[in-house]
Amino acid sequence: MAHLELIDISKAFGDVYAVTSMNLAVNEGEFVCLLGPSGCGKTTTLHMIAGFEAPTTGKILLAGRDITRFKPNQRGLGIVFQTYALFPHMTALENVEFGLEVRGMGKAERRKIAMEQLELVGLADQAKKYTQQMSGGQQQRVALARALAVKPRVLLLDEPLSALDAKVRVQLRDQIRRIQLTTGTTTVFVTHDQEEALAVADRIGVMNKGKIEQIAAPQNLYQRPATEYVATFIGLTNRLPGASNGDEAVVFGQRVPLLAGSAKGDSVAVLVRPENLTLALAGSSDSHVGERARVEVIHFLGSLVRVDTVITSGEYQRWNKGEQLKATVQLPASELPAGLAVGDDVIVTP
Ligand code: ATP
Repeated sequence: MAHLELIDISKAFGDVYAVTSMNLAVNEGEFVCLLGPSGCGKTTTLHMIAGFEAPTTGKILLAGRDITRFKPNQRGLGIVFQTYALFPHMTALENVEFGLEVRGMGKAERRKIAMEQLELVGLADQAKKYTQQMSGGQQQRVALARALAVKPRVLLLDEPLSALDAKVRVQLRDQIRRIQLTTGTTTVFVTHDQEEALAVADRIGVMNKGKIEQIAAPQNLYQRPATEYVATFIGLTNRLPGASNGDEAVVFGQRVPLLAGSAKGDSVAVLVRPENLTLALAGSSDSHVGERARVEVIHFLGSLVRVDTVITSGEYQRWNKGEQLKATVQLPASELPAGLAVGDDVIVTP
């Protein structure tokens, strides 16, 4: 049995459905990310789990018990918001203690637990500091300690990193995952940042228009996306013209294997990851496959290089709604043709 279950949940605001017939099962100790663009219903879903919004239809079960109509404080959940929502006139320690105090815990015990939680987030030495004197990253760690102090049955994180600068964001993201693994807390994390989701989640539910379009482990989502939406939302994808028999396609004269369940057709769009394309300087090889292209931008990414090209054969323009067809190639830096420069003619091959 799943620890947290959303069964056929919908939420309407007037005529607008923010969430439609959504199902989600989160196992005990699991870290699930809900990922999707702005407006797809992530926050509304989290608010229904937390009890801030009542679903229009459907049920929410926690450890098998129907909590759909429970008030937020009856659910035993911990929540961290995008903004820190701390009391500025209280110290870090007092903020973490607060949730325990409202639950009626005695002073000595709550102080002990609050200190343990501050230790866990690496802020034991800042316990006496007022939160308004702390950095954004520190404040969010206090908020995390506060949410964890009550030993939540589920930890809900609503874009907790989006107000932080890039470096702090990565550090705190990794720290959240380490703490979650240590404590074994079942966690639902909402984000629009795919890199964040890929880095921390056991499973990612990719949301589109109020529904989960696919839920799977990060690697499976990337390697076996179920839909074009998921393929283009997770990672970079080229959309190239090809002919498919359902098992294989021919793209730029090259035969490529397809995922099970792919469509057949003489003129279909084939989604190809940049690392599944390669390039050579035009005239450097006598291969009969590949398509002529011009280098537009070269991005050096350390051990990898990404090369944006535009296909120079005009034959695909009609297929691509009048636009020139582009292809992005990603290679290990060691495989980049020597001296490749912007404007060079190349042959791009799957
Ligand atoms: P974001 O990342 O921008 O927060 P989201 O994926 O979390 O987006 P939601 O905030 O859940 O999306 O919103 C989903 C849809 O529901 C949007 O179209 C939004 O305008 C609408 N919506 C959300 N809350 C309300 C509300 N209280 N009243 C009316 N419409 C709402």
